[in-house]
Amino acid sequence: MKRVFLLGHPVSHSVSPAMHNAAFRALGLNWEYEPLETSREKLREACHRLRTDNCAGANVTVPHKQAIMELLDGVSETARTIGAVNTITPRDGKLFGENTDAEGFVAALKENHINPRHARVVILGAGGAARAVAFALAAAGAREIILINRTASHATELADRVHARYPGLRLAINWREAIADANILINATSVGMWPNITDAPLPPEQVVSPHSVVVDLIYNPLQTRFLWDAKRAGAWTINGLGMLVHQGAASFKLWTGRDAPIQVMLDAARKELAK
Ligand code: NDP
Repeated sequence: MKRVFLLGHPVSHSVSPAMHNAAFRALGLNWEYEPLETSREKLREACHRLRTDNCAGANVTVPHKQAIMELLDGVSETARTIGAVNTITPRDGKLFGENTDAEGFVAALKENHINPRHARVVILGAGGAARAVAFALAAAGAREIILINRTASHATELADRVHARYPGLRLAINWREAIADANILINATSVGMWPNITDAPLPPEQVVSPHSVVVDLIYNPLQTRFLWDAKRAGAWTINGLGMLVHQGAASFKLWTGRDAPIQVMLDAARKELAK
């Protein structure tokens, strides 16, 4: 039996094991996806385990997506550009890192018939997910990206990183007035995530345009307070489930070489979230 691990802390709440195990079963693979609770101190030890024979890959989640990079033998250009790894593939005893969050985000937008080309996008947050989303949108031809984050220096650092790669893109930091006429508004913070489901990344008096597409990367709960508020304002809303499934599908393909059964994964994730 081959194994795929999820490295992170905490990982017990993750729906990825249910999602991937359902996909392995659907394709008749004798594989098992297992959460591996991993503290920062145990990260090197966990990598050692990934080099053993029956390990076919891993996902990396909070808080190790950046720290893991120095422990790998190589990382893809996408992962290096974003500055974070969420997927590891072992090859001949060596470990290679990839980032499928950006691909997952773009696939989720596409599924909802949203094209970010020429769009003014406001991203709340500047952590790992915001990085992947900012680079994905820049690559997809967004006109302008405004980063709003609690810690301004994190937003500045991300903006500098994106600017270095896309010098023609218009970037701004903590420009809150831009929210009112954003084409796409994205919550890439963890504010509103279970169990703090009454929290929202914007105050209730913040004006959100009814013409905006509002995306929350959070998938637990599926309907965050942020999305409720946006929907009430008349905006089109998208939750984080599509991104979760599509980043998982891209990882699945890297490990198995086979196309992922998207609908099976979506159903399994929904079922797990409903528990
Ligand atoms: P990080 O820990 O890397 O970043 C967290 C971000 O949230 C930072 O910008 C941080 O700001 C901000 N933040 C955290 N707490 C607060 C607060 N109380 N008030 C204001 N801002 C706050 O996490 P990730 O980027 O990896 O994940 C962010 C969210 O995206 C999570 O909810 C995660 O579940 C979701 N996600 C969803 C995915 C999907 O497939 N749907 C994939 C990846 C992530 P600061 O810089 O000031 O600390």
